[in-house]
Amino acid sequence: MAYKAEYIWIDGTEPTAKLRSKTKVLTDGTDLPIWGFDGSSTNQAPGDKSDCVLRPVFTCLDPIRGGANKLVMCEVLYIDMTPHATNTRAALQTVADKFADQDSWFGIEQEYNFFQEGRPLGFPLGGFPGPQGPYYCGVGADEVYGREIVEAHMDACLEAGLSISGINAEVMPGQWEFQVGPLGPLDVSDELWIARWLLNRIAEDFGVAVTIDAKPMAGDWNGAGAHTNFSTKAMRENYDAIITACEALGKRVDEHIAGYGTGIEQRLTGQHETAHFTEFSYGVSDRGASIRIPWQVEVDQKGYIEDRRPNANIDPYVVTRLIVDTCCSALA
Ligand code: ADP
Ligand code: MN
Ligand code: MN
Ligand code: MN
Repeated sequence: MAYKAEYIWIDGTEPTAKLRSKTKVLTDGTDLPIWGFDGSSTNQAPGDKSDCVLRPVFTCLDPIRGGANKLVMCEVLYIDMTPHATNTRAALQTVADKFADQDSWFGIEQEYNFFQEGRPLGFPLGGFPGPQGPYYCGVGADEVYGREIVEAHMDACLEAGLSISGINAEVMPGQWEFQVGPLGPLDVSDELWIARWLLNRIAEDFGVAVTIDAKPMAGDWNGAGAHTNFSTKAMRENYDAIITACEALGKRVDEHIAGYGTGIEQRLTGQHETAHFTEFSYGVSDRGASIRIPWQVEVDQKGYIEDRRPNANIDPYVVTRLIVDTCCSALA
C-alpha cells in the first residue's frame, strides 16, 4: 500500500520565516528518504544553484489524511549535506548536546490571531468590537470567535501524538493560545512547528487565516507572545537554581531580545502585561516582569520559570538555544 508523507520545512522569508510543505508518495515499509526542493522559490537559493535538501528530523501520524499517512518535519541542508544558513535547528542540536546532562524542559505557550477578509475574526466590518475585558477564556457567541477551528486543531494535535498541553481564548477577540510541552528543547521546537503547520492547514478549510504577528492590531489591543517556560533538573529540585537562572538571563538581555522575534519593540512596551524590552526584571507572580516565577514554585521552593518576552513569531530553535546556553552555562 502506498502512503503520503507531508514533508514540512522552514523557508528563508525575512524577517520571519514561513512554513512550506509538499507531499511524497511512498510504499509501506520503506524508510523516509531525504528529498529536495527548489530553494529559489523559498528565498533559500539562487536560480542557478536552486537545489536544497530536506532531511527528516521528526515524524508523526497525519491526523488530516488519517490512516498510515505521515507528517515529516525536516531540516534544510545544502547539497553537500551541511546545514543551510536558514537551518537554526543545527545550532540548537549542538547546544542541547553540550548541556544534555542538565535535562532541560520547555513548555511554550503559542498565542495567535485568526483573520478573515483582512480583519481579525470577530471584528465587525468597518468598526471595532467592544474593548478588551470579556474575551480572555470567555464563552458565548458575542465573545468567542473561531472555537470550532481551535477544537479541531487540538484534536488533530492529540491524534498526531503531539504533547499539546492545553488551549485558551486570549485577551483580544479572535486571539487564542495553545501550549506544547514540557519536552526537551529539540522536541518542543519540532512539535511546535508541526502544531503551527496543522493550525494553518486546518484553519484553511474554514477559510480563515492564522497570523503569529507579534502586534497584529496597533493600539489598545494585546500583542501575541510565546511565553517560554523552562526548567533544568536542578531547578526542579531547588530554589537557588531558579534564582541562578533568572540572574543569568539578566546578564544577556540584548542577545536574547534580538532572538525573541521580529517586532518585539512594538510588543514589549511595558503595557498589556509586558515589561519594556530595554528593562529586565524577575518576580513571583509578576506578569509585568520579564521573567515570572509562578507562585506555586515559590511555595514548593522548586519548579520552573516563565520567560514572558518571546514573541508569538519566534523561531523556537533559536529561543530554546539561547535559554539553554545562558541558564545551563550558569548552572553548570
Ligand atoms: P500561564 O499560566 O502562563 O498561562 P500555561 O498553563 O499556559 O501558563 O503554560 C504553562 C506551560 O508550562 C505548559 O506548557 C506546561 O507544560 C509548562 N511547564 C509545566 N511545568 C514545567 C517545567 N517544570 N518545566 C518547563 N515547563 C513546564
Ligand atoms: Mn498560558
Ligand atoms: Mn497567553
Ligand atoms: Mn504565560
